[in-house]
Order: sequence, then structure tokens, then C-alpha cells
Amino acid sequence: MAGHPAAEGALKGLKVEGSKDNAVLDSSTLRPSTSTKYPVYERFYTWQGEGVHLGRAAYFIRLYGCPQHCPWCDSAGTWHPDYRPAAVGLLSAEALAQAVAQESPDGAVVIITGGEPILFDLGPLTDALHALGRRVHIETSGIAPLRGEIDWVTLSPKPTQKWPLPEVVARANEVKIIVHEPQDIAAGLGTLDGLREDAVIWLHPEWSRARERDMAVLNAITEAVKANPRLRAGYQMHKLYRADDLDEHSDKRLIPLGGNEGLGY
Ligand code: SF4
Repeated sequence: MAGHPAAEGALKGLKVEGSKDNAVLDSSTLRPSTSTKYPVYERFYTWQGEGVHLGRAAYFIRLYGCPQHCPWCDSAGTWHPDYRPAAVGLLSAEALAQAVAQESPDGAVVIITGGEPILFDLGPLTDALHALGRRVHIETSGIAPLRGEIDWVTLSPKPTQKWPLPEVVARANEVKIIVHEPQDIAAGLGTLDGLREDAVIWLHPEWSRARERDMAVLNAITEAVKANPRLRAGYQMHKLYRADDLDEHSDKRLIPLGGNEGLGY
């Protein structure tokens, strides 16, 4: 595994099993690896539920580990000590590309997400996916240098935690600001010095706020967009469809930080 120290720390103590190409970590066998393997929390084929590429068929690779610890995280199974998975697969770039080829048709984009995927050297994985002819997207909070050839960068800054690096802000194709409180809009916009003029900026109600129809948050987004036409009001459409959690490969456990406790997000 070629990862960031924060990612390696998050992996300690996880269970072990598996084969050569699908080894799984265990506290008794965790050792540094010289080959590039990625800790895969889950992977599934569905469609992109938000942003500029809303509605596109997409294969998601969700990597394990995130040091940001957002209190409303809807993917807390990738880092929260209360929701640690029984096992996390360590897969090579080649094994992941093979899974993508077998489990989704040509033309489906691949979205690398997390957790925080920018903690890993994604070069071997993006090379393997490009060799298949796939577009590769990433969703990241931008807290480390981006490694690998990425076709589309979605930056979701977390200004209450660690801010994105300027080099990742400059590389972003779109930005997704999660609005849990109205003031999160200004805080998120404050992280974007150096953003390209053509980058799209989305304001997304944090999912529990959206579910509860929290009008303070929703109206703050509406007023911000009306005041600044560069901004766009967003929504996580896949959660209305349950497009990801109905996929047979996605994590079905109840992980109730933000969002819908009944459905686990
Ligand atoms: S950065 Fe993303 S994955 Fe990490 S804790 Fe925050 S919402 Fe969750």
C-alpha cells in the first residue's frame, strides 16, 4: 500500500483474510507492503447522484480511511471507530480494474471516493483504468497532493476541519460545499482562492438537513444562489432513489451520523 500516514493509521486493527490479489488486513498481519494496493471499503455499480455528472452510469470505488471526521459524515463506515467494518479488502490496481471491467459496461465512468482517496497514490489505479478506456473521477476534500491522472476532480472542502491544499483547489473541476448550517456557505467559499473560472460551485444541503426540510439551510442556499449566479443549488439525488445502497455490493449496515438513520446514512 502506498498511502499517507493518516490512511495507514486508520487501517490498524482491521481483520484479515483473502487471497493474493484480495488480501485483507488484520492486526496480527498488518505489515507495510512494497506493492501499491488500495484498502477498498466497498465498490458498486450505480449512477452518479450529484454534481455536473448527475445521472451518469458510474462504478464507485470507496477507499477506507479519512482523518477529517466530519460529525455528519454519510460514509462514516470508512473511518468511525463505532462503525469499523469486519474487513477491508486490499486490492491491487490490476485487480480493481478487472473488477470494474467485469462489473460495469464500457462507457461507465469510475469514481474514486471514500473516505479520503487523495491519501493514496492513485497513479497505478488511474493508469489501469485508463487502459480500459474508462474516465476516472475523484471526490476529495483536497487535503493532500493529488497523485494520478484524474479526468474530473470534485472538491468538497471541509473548512471546519482541514482546508484543501491550494494546488487541489486549482485543479478542481467542480466544488461541492456541504451546508449543515447557513454559515457553512461563506466558510466553504473562503477556501476557494485560486479556483478556475470555469469550475462549478455547488451548495448541497447536508443530508439530514435536506431530509428534515430544514428551511434555514435550504433558504440560505436559495438566497446565496440568487445573490451569486455562479453558485448552484445541489441535491444528492441518489439518496432519493436509494441507487447506491440497493446495489448488492454496497455496505448495508446502519451508520447513523447524518442522514437517514433508518437507511443507514
Ligand atoms: S471528508 Fe468526507 S469521508 Fe471524510 S469525514 Fe468528511 S464527509 Fe466523511
